[in-house]
Amino acid sequence: MDKLISFIRTDIGRFCSQCHSKCCSVGKIIISKKELDCFTKKVFIERSDGLFEVVLKTGCPELKSDCLCNIYPNRPEICREYPIFRHANLILVSSICPYIHEYDEQLEELKKLGARVELI
Ligand code: SF4
Ligand code: SF4
Repeated sequence: MDKLISFIRTDIGRFCSQCHSKCCSVGKIIISKKELDCFTKKVFIERSDGLFEVVLKTGCPELKSDCLCNIYPNRPEICREYPIFRHANLILVSSICPYIHEYDEQLEELKKLGARVELI
């Protein structure tokens, strides 16, 4: 499963310049306390579960005008895993990404391997 997931995360990069970083523009970012320091702008609020989040109304504060990430080498885990997140046999797939359906074949493979795949 990890191999397929890793393939999707890497391969989808070839579409990113075409969608102008939609994933960095809408939705929300949820990070751990230790990841707060990755961000140059302090816009996160603490949640009741101890994590921190920011709702993207005008895009991620680290998204540059050229649609690249200002903190790319230090970006948080959620950005590294996007658009597919694994929690044991549960695979959450972001519906925000306009190119995720390019990977329907791989998502079907994951189901055959016993994963529960959910679009979020
Ligand atoms: S939404 Fe999908 S295609 Fe667009 S930048 Fe994010 S991962 Fe790439
Ligand atoms: S930290 Fe970087 S990769 Fe993550 S949402 Fe912001 S701009 Fe995008």
